Amino acid sequence: MLAEFKKTLARDRTRMTINGFSPLGLVEMTRKRTRESLAHILCEPCPTCQGRGEVKTPQTVCYEILREILREARQFNAREYRILASQQVIDLFLDEESQSLAQLGDFIAKPISLQVESEYTQESYDIILM
Ligand SMILES: [Zn+2]
Repeated sequence: MLAEFKKTLARDRTRMTINGFSPLGLVEMTRKRTRESLAHILCEPCPTCQGRGEVKTPQTVCYEILREILREARQFNAREYRILASQQVIDLFLDEESQSLAQLGDFIAKPISLQVESEYTQESYDIILM
């Protein structure tokens, strides 16, 4: 790991010397490439998006949860459902999506409760059957 890092720096120095008299554009290009390779060595994929660079919106996660509860309600006979999710997702269920949640609760005729899990990423959730 450290050796790889040193190698990159050495490579970088060489490139900067070679390109020392090049037009500014070329030097900038070299610098950009170096920064990318350093990031590649020093970083790891984002745990929230797994390196995709995008995460599902809280709205999308809300709908996924509602669909999953509907699926589970057809399959199992739970007394009650509890949604464990991030603050952003729970906030949506308490506000803009409160009607969708109430409608689903009426439809399956089971209570659905909410619980914030501060450790959860925006995309992660659990549905507990009680
Ligand atoms: Zn990410």
